[in-house]
Amino acid sequence: YFWHTYFMTSISELKAQLIPGTKAVITAHYNPDSDAIGSTLAFQGYLAKKGIQATVAVPSALSANLKWMPGAADILTYDELLHKVQIDALVEEADFIFCLDFSGIQRLHNMAPLVRKSRAKKVVIDHHLDPEDFGDYYYHRTIAASTCELIYDLILEWGDENLLDPSIGSCLYSGIMTDTGSFRHPNTTAHVHTVVAALIDVGVNTNEVHRKVFDSSSIDRLKFIGHVLGQRMDYLPEYHLAFMWITAEDLTKFNSQAGDTEGIVNYGLQITGCVWSILMIERPDGVKLSFRSIEPFAVNEFASKYFEGGGHKNASGGRFSGGSLVEAKKKLMEVLPLYLSEINRVKNL
Ligand code: 5GP
Ligand code: MN
Repeated sequence: YFWHTYFMTSISELKAQLIPGTKAVITAHYNPDSDAIGSTLAFQGYLAKKGIQATVAVPSALSANLKWMPGAADILTYDELLHKVQIDALVEEADFIFCLDFSGIQRLHNMAPLVRKSRAKKVVIDHHLDPEDFGDYYYHRTIAASTCELIYDLILEWGDENLLDPSIGSCLYSGIMTDTGSFRHPNTTAHVHTVVAALIDVGVNTNEVHRKVFDSSSIDRLKFIGHVLGQRMDYLPEYHLAFMWITAEDLTKFNSQAGDTEGIVNYGLQITGCVWSILMIERPDGVKLSFRSIEPFAVNEFASKYFEGGGHKNASGGRFSGGSLVEAKKKLMEVLPLYLSEINRVKNL
């Protein structure tokens, strides 16, 4: 784990400033996933117990399978006009903005300028690589499998273990579970299991959380996955690559909702011999890419080199701004041969 980074600032000094009545906003990245929503809501629940009524405000809507989380109904989303007005006012008067589950301010998309210019102290709690220097306080460890794990660690570090309860615990469990791929990704450390054991002791029903997050698809979504696996996937054996693509028309035809494309890229890795999987999605604002790989292939390097992206070693994202889906595919096919030796090197390790 030599590549992991720890970035801590005076987190005990921060604790002393979090007194009842403090005005706080908690935010997370665009297209918030289970770790983003789980960590923000858990932290909100924790702050509430300390007499701090924080608002959770995120750039865009959460998917339907996360709406069961306690507090989810009150989340403000910046891409809704009525919420935007409220968020602008809340950020304006906030003492603290907690930035959870992202380390680059551009991952706030439309909300980034607002947070950047705010006079509030910014607290970054996250596990992504290469944190940017926009925060006043950092609780940042790339070895953490999820931001939810870090929220748990922080609550313990602040001596508030007794404030954990099944509501906070379920939110935390949700993010830990999804960011570890249900405890199968290489980021699943012994510490992850220790945290989960503690959450079960607090009263979290792990089976129920798993069902709420994963067994809550619409029939449209299952048919959509069937369509992608059936009609929109190629396997390129020479590159050990599963390649999938989703057109704008597919999204409309299958009535795709926020979060419906989540996890589809992982299916590719189920093919024997597959080392990495790429999914391209034709969105209104351009082609978005998802990358997944198995150890030791660092797919974030590929994402950053060719598709303006990055992320974790085995789970990354990126975009193609040079044109349509057809052109994005063309670019991929052009750069693949340049990566052949790297893929073979990894394959032979
Ligand atoms: P997903 O495939 O779920 O959209 O993204 C997987 C991971 O890749 C995210 O957790 C995030 O860390 C990273 N990621 C996604 N999109 C981008 C991007 O455009 N730039 C960078 N640097 N990382 C991204
Ligand atoms: Mn995360």
